[in-house]
Amino acid sequence: MDQVSPTAMDTPRRGPNLPSWTLTVINSFDVTPKMRRVVFGVENVDQFEYKPGQDIVFFLNDPEGGHGRRHYTVRAIDRDAGTLSVDFVLHGDSVGPSFARNAKPGDQVEVKGPRGRVVFKPDADWHLLTGDETCIPGILHILENLPAQARAFAFIEVEDESWKQDFETEGEVSIEWIARGSARPSSVMVDRLSSFELPGGHGQALIIGETSNVRAQRHYLIERGFSRDRIASEGYWRPGRNGGHDHVDD
Ligand SMILES: Cc1cc2nc3c(=O)[nH]c(=O)nc-3n(C[C@H](O)[C@H](O)[C@H](O)COP(=O)(O)OP(=O)(O)OC[C@H]3O[C@@H](n4cnc5c(N)ncnc54)[C@H](O)[C@@H]3O)c2cc1C
Repeated sequence: MDQVSPTAMDTPRRGPNLPSWTLTVINSFDVTPKMRRVVFGVENVDQFEYKPGQDIVFFLNDPEGGHGRRHYTVRAIDRDAGTLSVDFVLHGDSVGPSFARNAKPGDQVEVKGPRGRVVFKPDADWHLLTGDETCIPGILHILENLPAQARAFAFIEVEDESWKQDFETEGEVSIEWIARGSARPSSVMVDRLSSFELPGGHGQALIIGETSNVRAQRHYLIERGFSRDRIASEGYWRPGRNGGHDHVDD
């Protein structure tokens, strides 16, 4: 298991000069009906240092003949096997899901990373993690790597319960899968947070997912007394945007 480093709090903002890697598809399968895992072989995987919650940037063929940048979180690393797994949400026929559906053993793809500051921050009495389907890989990877006794509350917004996954953790974890239905955007997460009684002590929140939802949750937590520096948040996608990510710092 990759332990979460106590220095995760200090993860520096990385510029564009991220390390490059060539990944080779080994295997792919559906984890749940609309979540496809691709297992990649990575040469020198021992040199791939990352924090659970970080992502890599894929350069995927787009229909215009170019290379679309798409962010995907590290779902698992198996250093003995030399593999890195990524879970792709199959939300449509866009570049990311098309790549995942068509991935065949031996296919190669270029990625850069790891990147991202929105990672587990150990310096807290308890942790709040929220996200939607795109955040299942990151949230579960963080939970699977929690230090023993770390206390975490995870809320994951999903279309329906077919998205649920089992996982193992040494932490004290409470997880809720909140069914939203197909209508989006949805206010289910802010509604759920409004009845979440904040535990005593210092909390640390990690808020990810669709950008407008991330912003609404961040503002709601600030209203409830969370200080900005204890909320790590990032917009993972947004209607009408192709690839990229949104800083949500306000
Ligand atoms: C740091 C980070 C980590 C991420 N990790 C993951 C991950 O592990 N797994 C994962 O599946 N995604 C992850 N995402 C989200 C993923 O990068 C985006 O959803 C991306 O837009 C997918 O690319 P695409 O080619 O499918 O769609 P794009 O070509 O980027 O978008 C086409 C259209 O599809 C819509 N759209 C995009 N994403 C979604 C969605 N998820 N649901 C519904 N509609 C959508 C938008 O309207 C968009 O205009 C992550 C994003 C970030 C920033």
